[in-house]
Amino acid sequence: MSDNPAIPQSAVGASYAGPLSFLRCPYTRELRGVDLAVLGIPYDLATTNRPGARFGPRALREQSAFVGEYPWGVWPWEFDLRSRFNVVDYGDIDFNVGYPERMVEAVEQAAGSILDAGVSLLGLGGDHFVAYPLLRAHAARHGPLSLVHLDAHSDSWTSEDYNHGTMFYHAAEQGLIDPAHSIQIGIRTPNPETHGLTIVDARSLLDQGPRAAAERARAVVGDRPVYLTLDIDFLDPAYAPGTGTPVVGGPTTHQARELLFALRGMNVVGGDQVEVAPAYDALGQITALAGATLAADILYLIGLARAARGSGR
Ligand code: MN
Ligand code: MN
Repeated sequence: MSDNPAIPQSAVGASYAGPLSFLRCPYTRELRGVDLAVLGIPYDLATTNRPGARFGPRALREQSAFVGEYPWGVWPWEFDLRSRFNVVDYGDIDFNVGYPERMVEAVEQAAGSILDAGVSLLGLGGDHFVAYPLLRAHAARHGPLSLVHLDAHSDSWTSEDYNHGTMFYHAAEQGLIDPAHSIQIGIRTPNPETHGLTIVDARSLLDQGPRAAAERARAVVGDRPVYLTLDIDFLDPAYAPGTGTPVVGGPTTHQARELLFALRGMNVVGGDQVEVAPAYDALGQITALAGATLAADILYLIGLARAARGSGR
C-alpha cells in the first residue's frame, strides 16, 4: 500500500483491477493545482496503411497499470512521478468520426486550454497525425519548437496531403518547428528531402548506441523548448509488432528507454506516444506495454524539465 495521496486508494490494490487511467492517476478535467496531464486521442483516420491506432490510448492505459504498479516510481527513474507532481488523466478527446478534419481543431483547443491552465501535456495516440494539432497548440505558446522525433519514418513527405506521413513537412513549412534545431532518430525508410532536420538513421543509432544519439540530440537542440514525439514503430517489430506501418531493423525497447533516459535535463515542454495498434499486437501485449513504458519515460522528462524551469508551462 502507498501513503502517496496522489494515488487513489482504488489504484494501490491489484494492478489488474480498478479504473483504466494512465499510471492509475485520477481521471479528471479539473486542472487546478495540476502539473502534468495525459490526453488520449483515439484517432486513426490519417494512417496510410493499417488502421487500428484508435485503440491505442485504451491499450496504453491498460498496460500502464503494470508500469505504474510500484509506489516508488518507474525503474530506473529514482522517484515516483506521482509523488513529486500532481499528474492526472484528462481522458480522451471528443470528436465525431464523420468529420475527421474536426479532430485537429478539437485537439488543438483541448491541448491549448490544458497548457493555458499551466499544465504540461503528454498525448497518447492515435496515429502519428495527432502530433500535428498537439504541435500547433505548443508552438502557439512557445514559438517554433525543437522537434525530437523517434520513428522508423521521417513523416515529412513533401505533399499537400495531411496524413501521418506528412505532418512534419507541414509543421516545418508553418514554422511550428525549427528544422535547424530538430532531430529525427531511428529513420530506416527513404526520404530524399530532409527539410533541414538532422537525421540519425537506424544504422547510426545501432552502431553508435542510444547514448551517442542522445548526445547528438542535445547538441542539435541546446536548451531550446523541445516537443518529443515517439512513434512506436521506432522499435523493431520484434519488440513492437502492434503498429500500422512496421519496419524491420530498429532498436530494442531497452535501447529506446536508454535513449530517453539519456535525455534527462533536456527542456522537454510536451510530447506524445503514438501508433500503438493493439489489433496487431502479440500475445502478452508487448507493443502496448512498451508504449506505456516509453510514454511514462517521456512524462518523466516533461516533469523534470518543468521542475527545472521552476514549474509553469
Ligand atoms: Mn513510423
Ligand atoms: Mn510516425
